[in-house]
Amino acid sequence: SKVPTLTLNNGIAMPQLGFGVWQVPDDEAAQAVGTALEAGYRSIDTAAVYGNEEGTGKAIAASGLDRADLFVTTKLWNSEQGYDSTLRAFDVSLAKLGLEYVDLYLIHWPVPSAGKYVDTYKAFEKILADGRAKAIGVSNFLPAHLERLLGETSVVPAVNQIELHPQLQQAESRAVHQKHGVLTEAWSPLGQGKGLLEVPTVLAIARKHERTPAQVVLRWHLQLGNVVIPKSVTPSRIQENIDVFGFELDADDLAAFAALDEGRRIGPDPAGFND
Ligand code: NAD
Repeated sequence: SKVPTLTLNNGIAMPQLGFGVWQVPDDEAAQAVGTALEAGYRSIDTAAVYGNEEGTGKAIAASGLDRADLFVTTKLWNSEQGYDSTLRAFDVSLAKLGLEYVDLYLIHWPVPSAGKYVDTYKAFEKILADGRAKAIGVSNFLPAHLERLLGETSVVPAVNQIELHPQLQQAESRAVHQKHGVLTEAWSPLGQGKGLLEVPTVLAIARKHERTPAQVVLRWHLQLGNVVIPKSVTPSRIQENIDVFGFELDADDLAAFAALDEGRRIGPDPAGFND
């Protein structure tokens, strides 16, 4: 594949760039994922709550690719947290995907007020031990949630998938992840395609490299060491977003990106997101 891999803390290789399918309706997911697989993506990021595990699974089955060459992530939804309910929810996700294992299973949000993420993660450890997930991890965990998990469970999460883009650079979380061997995966890496791709600094760097704003933003993530999972349903953009391995940002570009950090979230604050 054209996408390099990073090695997770348990030795499993994960493509550094994948395809996100949040907000893609189930009946469009098969086509979008199929387009992505044809374009060379080998990692797909879905979740039970996205409602498109079936469409994603159909595209995987139709692709004719070897299962071993794919990296499939799904996530446990908040309402299913707890040991037994997690095991049941995982069975449902696997069945919808039509797979015998996932490559990565994530706790979607910590939901600290429910107080269940440690028990939930113990079910994840069982799923890992049974070989039904090749790696397990978390999403939207703040450093305090991660520290608690590390203190009360055995398997260090392979990944923490968090909101991260040039306007929310997450220096503190990234440092905590690095200290513990947790890979940082960036969700909404393009800032959801809203204001970020029109910021003058981003436009200037794009012009300098004769690339698009989305491509230089993705390049910034890759050079930082993040895993990225940009989403698009537009074939030309799906192609564009994976065509980011033929150029490099220089130190000036990286300094200009560093100055864009506003510490501003687009999505919810994980401390209070208890859906
Ligand atoms: P994103 O930053 O990937 O932006 C996607 C949007 O940007 C598209 O809908 C489109 O409008 C625009 N876009 C995409 N490519 C473009 C291009 N080349 N040029 C111009 N505009 C372009 O946002 P996202 O979908 O929120 O995040 C990516 C993935 O991260 C999701 O699909 C999902 O898999 C994951 N995610 C996870 C969580 C979580 O809680 N764990 C939350 C949000 C997203």
